[in-house]
Amino acid sequence: MPLTALSSIEVSLYNTRANEINRFLTINTANSNLLFCKNATSIKSDLLINYNYNNIHLGEYLIAFLNLDLTKFNDFFNYFCTFIFEYIEDIPEKDRNKILSNLNLHTKYFDIEEPKHIVDSEVLKKYSKQYFENKEEQDYLLKMQQLFRDSVDYIYNNNKDKKLEKLSTYERFYILQNINKEIREFSKKYMCHYDLEFSLHDKNFMLNILENITNKSKNPLSDEDFLINNLLERNQIGNKVYGVGPIFKTLDIYAYFYIVLYHITLNKYEYIKKCNVCGHYFLSKKETTLYCNNKYTDKITCKEYGIKTSQKRKENEEPVYGKYRQIYAKKAMAVKRNPDIEYYKTNYEKWKKEAKEFISDIKSSKKTYDEFDEWLDISK
Ligand SMILES: [Zn+2]
Repeated sequence: MPLTALSSIEVSLYNTRANEINRFLTINTANSNLLFCKNATSIKSDLLINYNYNNIHLGEYLIAFLNLDLTKFNDFFNYFCTFIFEYIEDIPEKDRNKILSNLNLHTKYFDIEEPKHIVDSEVLKKYSKQYFENKEEQDYLLKMQQLFRDSVDYIYNNNKDKKLEKLSTYERFYILQNINKEIREFSKKYMCHYDLEFSLHDKNFMLNILENITNKSKNPLSDEDFLINNLLERNQIGNKVYGVGPIFKTLDIYAYFYIVLYHITLNKYEYIKKCNVCGHYFLSKKETTLYCNNKYTDKITCKEYGIKTSQKRKENEEPVYGKYRQIYAKKAMAVKRNPDIEYYKTNYEKWKKEAKEFISDIKSSKKTYDEFDEWLDISK
């Protein structure tokens, strides 16, 4: 078993699956990562160190980092706990042992032998407060967060800069990496190895191999029938063998964010957008998405709020909408005043339906406001 310093960060990327595996310490309460907790400092239950590989969606830690308000202690505490290895070596040994207990910093643990222990959250709070109040540390962290926010905005053109409009996300990344010295430096602070090997994702398969190696003289891995039978055996996980993909190692947390940003930019099916309503960063499958799905109020999401207000704005700016509303009100009134005359009702329903279709055609650019204007004149 190779010995690796646990404080290095490891990201392993599966071929086309956008999963990342982090080899750094996260402290979990139940199963939720502290980075995504709303008010971690007030959590009463014990915190548990989790030093497993953490299989999460590519970019989740980066997005969470961008969204933290690091000028507030609560958010800083989340950051501190999640990326504790950024700080651990500076904490005096006595207290470091209180946090890490029996964890050997230079041993790589596997699932079966993983030691579990509970962290004294008061010790964590004490040290995170010290770092939080250290102006130099704090300024640097805020500067780096701003650097990554600016970089994301540049790559995804979140500020709608005209001169960047016609470039692709990776062309913008390429420009950024050339013109920004700090970003360029992170692009060099990692090691990468890529073995053309396979990894097994099925415990039973692995156990079968082990059992056959110990019990039989023949090597099961050179037995075609054994391999076929094991791979065909039904199980809910699906594929049992994967290509390993590249594994990146770095000692620098910001180089880690760089590696993740690079891969999201190049994957071509995800974009980091900034919500036009709440300002939070989020991942979207569409490059043109404007709003996130967070709650804007208890009743309404940013997306619902954004669409509603932009619709209102458009209507206010467009005189044809005013004309449409006037005719609409007039027809509705005629129906109300003449409940006995069927013509008003059928005419109103038919007109309403056609007008709605017209509006949706304008939204999808199939028709224009001028055509709508003409139609309103003819149909009223
Ligand atoms: Zn939002």
